[in-house]
Amino acid sequence: DHVPFKRALISVYDKTGLEPLARGLHEAGVELVSTGSTAKRIADAGVPVTEVSEVTGFQECLDGRVKTLHPRVHAGILADRRREDHAAQLRDLDVAPFDLVVVNLYPFVDTVASGAAQDEVIEQIDIGGPSMVRAAAKNHPSVAIVVDPTRYDDVVTAAQQGGFSLKTRQRLASLAFAHTAAYDNAVAAWTAAQFGDIEETDGAEGAAAPAFPPYAGVSLERAESLRYGENPHQHAALYVEAAAAPGIAQAELLQGKPMSYNNYADADAALRAAYDFADPAVAIIKHANPCGVAVATPGAEDPLADAHRKAHACDPVSAFGGVIAANREVTAGMAATVKDIFTEVIIAPGFSAEALEILSAKKNLRLLRLPDGFAQDDVEYKQISGGMLLQTRDALNAAGDQPANWTLAAGAAADEATLRDLSFAWRAVRAAKSNAVLLANDAATVGIGMGQVNRLDSCRLAVERANTLGAAQTGSQSAEITSAGGAENVSGAGAPERARGAVAASDAFFPFADGLQILIDAGVRAVVQPGGSIRDEEVVAAAEAAGITMYFTGARHFFH
Ligand code: 5GP
Repeated sequence: DHVPFKRALISVYDKTGLEPLARGLHEAGVELVSTGSTAKRIADAGVPVTEVSEVTGFQECLDGRVKTLHPRVHAGILADRRREDHAAQLRDLDVAPFDLVVVNLYPFVDTVASGAAQDEVIEQIDIGGPSMVRAAAKNHPSVAIVVDPTRYDDVVTAAQQGGFSLKTRQRLASLAFAHTAAYDNAVAAWTAAQFGDIEETDGAEGAAAPAFPPYAGVSLERAESLRYGENPHQHAALYVEAAAAPGIAQAELLQGKPMSYNNYADADAALRAAYDFADPAVAIIKHANPCGVAVATPGAEDPLADAHRKAHACDPVSAFGGVIAANREVTAGMAATVKDIFTEVIIAPGFSAEALEILSAKKNLRLLRLPDGFAQDDVEYKQISGGMLLQTRDALNAAGDQPANWTLAAGAAADEATLRDLSFAWRAVRAAKSNAVLLANDAATVGIGMGQVNRLDSCRLAVERANTLGAAQTGSQSAEITSAGGAENVSGAGAPERARGAVAASDAFFPFADGLQILIDAGVRAVVQPGGSIRDEEVVAAAEAAGITMYFTGARHFFH
């Protein structure tokens, strides 16, 4: 079922790899037909090529808007070689068939990203290219379609060996359709952002700003199949978002078993938590919730090792089998500690050579290096039945995220160190699923309550975990840190009461004073929360009565 290449149509915007492709095809005896500047590049390389305009008898026109949109091109792509009547018609029309089509499209997404003016962007909406790609993909029983320069070597090899098999042509067709679908999705998202919804009334002067940045279109392309989904009986795949900044989907697996569906989900949650801090930070995640987040103590000799030690000490029981993210290169110091703790994944912008060497002893530990240019996505998606919700990212950049803008609601103004801890707690609390209540000390979490259906339970949980899960715990699941510090908490005389003297953050306001009272009774000395409840007065009165400090941020960060 191989179809040998006799005649190829090549029209590529991105000329990467074009010369060796053209030369290889020519040497394998393939006749080349090509558009304007693609043909020129091939001819300049000394390889014989026929201009499309010679085939169509029609000059390219309208500044390239019409090049290949012609029956002599499209009949040549769409004729089904299994059908005698198609062959007869081509003979009557004097049209030669194509067996191979190589196209890549105008760089629409890049042009949008460059900030180009509207007219310029519109000029980069490829019309003839997708038509050829779709035509060739449809006619895969007769034609091979290639849209990706990284496959040119395979194309040349196939040309020498009698073409691609039907199976390969089918797979190439599926890739090609995914490619044009993603392309048109990006175009549709951009036009929607530029021009608004059809339901909006016309003529409104100074129309509202686009609801989403132009690159917020969902243009997903399948990257790889995963072994299974959240559970072993579920199918799963990784898709990449063409228009998004590179992220975990593009991260490099340096060692360990392939990433699983759950690994990806947890690594993403971990990364989000670690990158919410500018200073060296480590987040440990289990099932999308944090069991430890910490920022390095200023002046620490090995900041990342320090941050990891503090994050791990929050809840060593849960850290067993966790996913760790760091916002700096992983150091040998951190690696030496993690080595002895059962961990699923570490994701970081890099790993020092020494750290890699140390961690290579743990064959199953997955090490993921973030791609260059990593940035948190601007848009978040969530699936619902029958559709999808989109929202801009919940960045920690509201005025209320800065302690300088907080309102002192109760007690004395916090000293500098307390304010630093409150600021840490406020940034860390949004890594926990709602109703999140987080206790912190020394820029590290010491107790996290989350995922409860009322704030009262979260307060109880935060306190209970602070007071029972300290580094003194030596349960069967706990992986103790023995060598790299953390030993000060291991007293052997039961867990320390870490809620006493800690600060607390709540991701949303306290609807009643009862939750706050639990924190007060546990000895929390300062609290930061959004404020804005109709019972704020009661809540403030409870804080005043206890003599603790409480700030209102005026901002909230739900994370569901
Ligand atoms: P070239 O650089 O060879 O002049 O043009 C190659 C580019 O033109 C490719 O990206 C291809 O997708 C695009 N293209 C080919 N035919 C047409 C056409 O008829 N109309 C438009 N708008 N683009 C085309």
